[in-house]
Amino acid sequence: MTLAFYLATATLAAFLTAPAALAQAPRYPTCYDANGYEVTYRPDRTINDVAISLILPNGFPAVVWNPIVTAKLRPETVEFFYYHECAHHQLGHALGTYRPGMEIAADCHAFNTMADAGLMPFSKYTVLIADLRSYSRSGIDWNEGFQRVKSLAKC
Ligand SMILES: [Zn+2]
Repeated sequence: MTLAFYLATATLAAFLTAPAALAQAPRYPTCYDANGYEVTYRPDRTINDVAISLILPNGFPAVVWNPIVTAKLRPETVEFFYYHECAHHQLGHALGTYRPGMEIAADCHAFNTMADAGLMPFSKYTVLIADLRSYSRSGIDWNEGFQRVKSLAKC
């Protein structure tokens, strides 16, 4: 996918097998970007990723997510990715050049947002770090999941 404002996300491999439900109806708080615009989330089975944050041609922020991939993820991990993508927009990442540090920043912002809202009990955290450690692919801020989990622990 080569959109002008394409922002690749940290990803999980598509070969996950644990079944999990993701209702397509919104069940998370509305996400607003750095300019106060509502971020729309919509499914796209063609992306080769869990989700991608981008700016639409009309200038509004969006997240596209792949329901084939998310259906294979545990709900705790899907929820984290919802917040992770929102964090990219809240931090203005989709408005500029994709560069090192953005994935760690999005992870930390997502984690802290969830923790502050009481949405990161230890039981959820253990599921999340297990999935991130096992399935995160090499990206701009880490080569493997273990490095990602180490970064998350420093948030
Ligand atoms: Zn990301």
